[in-house]
Amino acid sequence: MMSQDNSILCALDIKDNNIKNVSVKDAKIKKRGVIKHIKIVNAELSYSLHRCPQCGMNTLVKNGKRTTNARLASFNGIEYHLVLKKQRFLCRNCGSTCGAHSDLLIKNHTMTKQIKNRIFSMAKESFTLSSIAKIIGISANTVSRILYSNTKIPTRCVHLPENLCFDEFRSVKNIFTFIAIDADTHRLVELIRNRLSKTITEHFINSYSLSERQAVKTVSIDLNANYQLVVHRIFPNARIVVDRFHIVQLCSRALDQVRINSLKKLPDKKSRIYKAMKSDWRLYHLPEEDVDDTHIKFIVGINEFMTIQNAIDIATDEIPIFKEAYDTYQSIQRSIRYHDIDLLQETISGYKRNGTAMDTAITTLRKNKNYVKNSCLLPYSNGPLEGTIGKIKKLKRNSYGFRNLEHFIKRIKLICA
Ligand SMILES: [Zn+2]
Repeated sequence: MMSQDNSILCALDIKDNNIKNVSVKDAKIKKRGVIKHIKIVNAELSYSLHRCPQCGMNTLVKNGKRTTNARLASFNGIEYHLVLKKQRFLCRNCGSTCGAHSDLLIKNHTMTKQIKNRIFSMAKESFTLSSIAKIIGISANTVSRILYSNTKIPTRCVHLPENLCFDEFRSVKNIFTFIAIDADTHRLVELIRNRLSKTITEHFINSYSLSERQAVKTVSIDLNANYQLVVHRIFPNARIVVDRFHIVQLCSRALDQVRINSLKKLPDKKSRIYKAMKSDWRLYHLPEEDVDDTHIKFIVGINEFMTIQNAIDIATDEIPIFKEAYDTYQSIQRSIRYHDIDLLQETISGYKRNGTAMDTAITTLRKNKNYVKNSCLLPYSNGPLEGTIGKIKKLKRNSYGFRNLEHFIKRIKLICA
């Protein structure tokens, strides 16, 4: 019997060796008028116990059994009901009674710990409530109750990291939710229901002492989020780092804008230059030093044989403002790539306005010159946050959006823990 018990327990993923005489049978139950096929797992919970928990004497004797019902996690959608006969004991000395206990069971609960753990591990994988319910074989309401009402979310993180990333994402009802993660470990630090400066400032000042906040060394931000003042107020010693990918992205978008505007002004839609600027736009984003200027190949779009460099030159030779935007973008990209702070400063301060989208991009960088400089000097960026925000977006998509912000935040904390 022993080895058969072990195989069944193993198949059911139960890790309590005191559960014995296990048998599984098919059964039918009627639930709200519907007949359901279920599996019933019968077993006994027994072990020898001699010392009385009340009086401490070695006077316990076996005293019958008591049956408990609990739900096990399902692997195939079929419900598994555990009917467990628990050994009872009676103390011959003081007359008190006690019973055998299994770690599988939760006190006053018909769910086993097994189910609870399965729910949490599936929630971490961004499964929806209804898929969790279906796979485990319990109701969506029970899943919701276990996930949301029994989880206590700490109001602050235990240890405020020295290097942080700040950003925001669209959450429930299109409200922007603020997010901060540890720049080194990528662990979630804070989720704040909105992104108002007042809410963020109050949250950090109320949750963390001044000395904790003074210990923060860097905060990476995106330029369009405007967290500069907030960061200075919360963390008096922190240096702001503008995300370097964001800097490149800002100029890359400006380059595209200039290209599209130049394209609109071209009279001949069948000209080489039109075809080049319209379909081979990716070439302008290649780092200049990687552009091939020796090997001739067929360039789709222009539909001619030439080098990549030739293809790029078609537009830059003809349109001076596009050439300027291209050169500016290339210098910014190179300075960020090689941490070349002199080139970065030269490009930003030497830029001459020409009435294009690049003006706006460079003006933004000029206004934030010191923070932009840090992106060359310090190793931090908002890159890690993209992974986290990606996970959040996946969760949101899977769940067709959350209506309840608290639930959404709890789920995010689960997947980012
Ligand atoms: Zn006793």
